[in-house]
Amino acid sequence: MKPRFSIKKCFYAVIAVAFFAFIFLVSAPHIRAQNAALLNGYTVVIDPGHGGVDGGVTGTYTRNKESDINLYISRALRTVLKKRGYRVIMTRNDENGLYDEGAGSKKLSDMNRRREIIEEAAPSLVVSVHQNFYPSPMVSGAQVFYAPSAAESERVASVMQKKLCEVLGGDREHKSADYYILRCSPYPSVLVECAFMSNEREDRLLNTSAYRQKTALAIADGIDASLAENVAKARVPLD
Ligand SMILES: [Zn+2]
Repeated sequence: MKPRFSIKKCFYAVIAVAFFAFIFLVSAPHIRAQNAALLNGYTVVIDPGHGGVDGGVTGTYTRNKESDINLYISRALRTVLKKRGYRVIMTRNDENGLYDEGAGSKKLSDMNRRREIIEEAAPSLVVSVHQNFYPSPMVSGAQVFYAPSAAESERVASVMQKKLCEVLGGDREHKSADYYILRCSPYPSVLVECAFMSNEREDRLLNTSAYRQKTALAIADGIDASLAENVAKARVPLD
């Protein structure tokens, strides 16, 4: 009678077990790394301004398109936030706008789609990323906007403005402004004008990936600081 387990079969079985053990050991660090990037419970919508036929403003000195700079900074911001455990939703993730090609008003169609994405995400915070422009080339500095009479957005804008001044320089104050993206949803929303593309120094800085990364990191720190304050406030007893 033939033995049920031949030496040859046992040999193959050992090889198979060793193979799967090896695969497990090799992949285990990746699994651990995934588990380490635990979500922190906050969702942030990043809204890179403009796109498609709407390039936004143009750098006076570099001729860069605002829509491209906004997308670059937004993607860098997404990377940083994901590493810090945020759930991140982008309103756009390529150079195209969000409008329907056949829409009567591309601007309206684009803004409506952004609102829908924000509403679907139900975020803790919306951060719209833009670049500024002013007729006088002397004007510079990051500027944060919030919708009038939106108390929580104003608080976040104040924290964000301080952080941007601290990291990028300048002494601007946060301001209210009637922008659609800031008032189209019930979620706290700020619009960050990172720098002036009409100012030579800032236009040239924005032309470097180092400064775009630095800006993204400053915005991420602003988000961290504003939400941490929120958590601390929530811990205060209500009596
Ligand atoms: Zn813009």
